[in-house]
Amino acid sequence: MSEKEYCPFCDSTELQLVTIAETFTNRAGEKIKIKNFEYTLCNDCDEEFVTAKQARHNEKEAGIA
Ligand SMILES: [Zn+2]
Repeated sequence: MSEKEYCPFCDSTELQLVTIAETFTNRAGEKIKIKNFEYTLCNDCDEEFVTAKQARHNEKEAGIA
């Protein structure tokens, strides 16, 4: 990661990248399985969020992009 990321909730930089398998339902009601869904977990406030970069990655994994 070249750019420093900050937690949008507490401005911490103690962030952890998490990759999990996730299943979503899209607008058409179809189940979409994402093998490598990425999100960020803040080690300070325990909030989870998806960065713009991760959102693009997740869309690609889901075959939406
Ligand atoms: Zn935080």
